[in-house]
Amino acid sequence: MYEGSCLCGAVAYRLDAEIGKGYFCHCQRCRKASGSAYAANALIAPEAFHITRGEALLSDYHNPETGLIRRFCSQCGSPMVSVRPGTGIMVLRLGSLDTPLEQGPGAHIFVASKAQWDHIHDGLPCFNERPTA
Ligand SMILES: [Zn+2]
Ligand SMILES: [Zn+2]
Repeated sequence: MYEGSCLCGAVAYRLDAEIGKGYFCHCQRCRKASGSAYAANALIAPEAFHITRGEALLSDYHNPETGLIRRFCSQCGSPMVSVRPGTGIMVLRLGSLDTPLEQGPGAHIFVASKAQWDHIHDGLPCFNERPTA
């Protein structure tokens, strides 16, 4: 249904399900992991996510503080997905998609920790942290 890949093309994936709720995340961890102002993330079903190429090149960064595992291409550094073991939560980095996606994230989260030079102008709802609903 959706296909994506990393910058160098060595790692590719297929998602056999609809993409879930998306957020622009401005937290410090996403800023550092992306090297930019925020990450464009969306929830996906882990059982529908399949690495179709370059699985051996995927590396994991396990953050002991958050328990989150960030998976990225070890060759070019592109972030692909994050997983929270034992919870069934998987988050896709929407910038890695090759299939066009019409509807992007619907909100900004962790805006309380956004970079000072990051100005939000798109009128989407903003949350200081992650909304619980
Ligand atoms: Zn790569
Ligand atoms: Zn974040």
